[in-house]
Amino acid sequence: MSTLLSTLPRRGVCLVIAAPSGAGKSSITRALLQAEPDLMLSVSATTRAPRPGEEEGVHYYFRSPAEFEAMARNDELLEWATVFGRSYGTPRAPVEAALAAGRDVVFDIDWQGHRQLRDALPRDVVGLFVLPPSLAVLEERLRGRGTDDPAEIARRMRAARAEIAHAPEFDHVLVNADFATAVAGARAVLQAARLATGRQTGLPAFITALDG
Ligand code: 5GP
Repeated sequence: MSTLLSTLPRRGVCLVIAAPSGAGKSSITRALLQAEPDLMLSVSATTRAPRPGEEEGVHYYFRSPAEFEAMARNDELLEWATVFGRSYGTPRAPVEAALAAGRDVVFDIDWQGHRQLRDALPRDVVGLFVLPPSLAVLEERLRGRGTDDPAEIARRMRAARAEIAHAPEFDHVLVNADFATAVAGARAVLQAARLATGRQTGLPAFITALDG
């Protein structure tokens, strides 16, 4: 008697989504999580202050610089980087548990985090870079947000150019001109990664069983 498979046993995907701030990365990630109930968000630790509406453990783990340093020192972070003068890092334990259980994880991190994560988990990371339709649109979106002051916006625009320069390091790139199209693109990248032959740990056993 054989078992009916809907999918093969496989390793989880680490989908890293990077973008300059204001390109719509957080909205795309949120929509992806809603559309893909089995997908887990990696919640980062940061030393920056919460913005209005941001919750501890949901958007970030908000930590003091001393607490963050201790996490880095104790090897509790898979990667960490300084962005806009603040520390940001990916807690190791939830990601390792998810991957071991064959669950997919999405990361809202920057190019530095993508590089480190790719080195740490070379077989599991799939990178997607989200571009804005133009720099003018990006600036408009940052102003529209109303959460950062003008000096902060100017700083983020400079950082945006620097972030975009790293887009070629990613496996996939999309332009967020139309939100629904961008979300569909991100879902397609995730689905293709899930089906990659190298990720199907159950394939050799399945093939062997064909002879039995
Ligand atoms: P924000 O302060 O706007 O939430 O995030 C600023 C930047 O830091 C974004 O590009 C975001 O993706 C990045 N970031 C957030 N968490 C992490 C992390 O854990 N590691 C790295 N390397 N970057 C992160």
